[in-house]
Amino acid sequence: MARLIAISRHRIATDGKGVTTLVAFHGCPLDCRYCLNEQCKGDAHKFSDYTPERLLDEVWIDDLYFQATGGGVTFGGGEPLLHPDFIVKFRRICPPEWKINIESSLAVPTHSLQKVAALVDGMIIDVKDLNNDIYHAYTGRDSHLLMNNLQWIAEAGLQDKCLVRLPLIKGYNTKSNVSRSRIQLAVMGFRHFDEFKYIIK
Ligand code: SF4
Repeated sequence: MARLIAISRHRIATDGKGVTTLVAFHGCPLDCRYCLNEQCKGDAHKFSDYTPERLLDEVWIDDLYFQATGGGVTFGGGEPLLHPDFIVKFRRICPPEWKINIESSLAVPTHSLQKVAALVDGMIIDVKDLNNDIYHAYTGRDSHLLMNNLQWIAEAGLQDKCLVRLPLIKGYNTKSNVSRSRIQLAVMGFRHFDEFKYIIK
């Protein structure tokens, strides 16, 4: 059972290949200064709890779109790796043709990542910045969980499943910090990157 804040259908080329449905969990261990999704940290009572079976019933309506386009379900949030058992169960009961992705900051213990890494088709990882001072200033947390998990992915040889998002964050990092993070990740064997700028409203 997990609390969801949104089920967003018919997304194209935003969080995975083909047509995807984004399933967003409540809860996140980070405290990003420009949080892109503040409801995931707000009052949980206005949202509903789902079992994997209930979620499958609801997203099944797009089965034909998923199968025809090579799409599927992307778990985001909030932090999906706070709910690894939910994702494992959903993967087991959904059609094997559906592609399952996660969008994660990896700010979780490694055993949570290990439960889902082999089962999902793709991992979109928002690292913020690999410099611990910048990471701490921006997220309010130390980066050791992120770094442990990146190292584990590299040792497991799963880098090609990952798209690493490298944001330029006004007031926190610079283009040269972004380049340094990218080089550090490339040395670890990561090859797919998405560099972009946070739009601050
Ligand atoms: S990781 Fe995402 S959801 Fe969590 S605080 Fe940062 S921006 Fe918000």
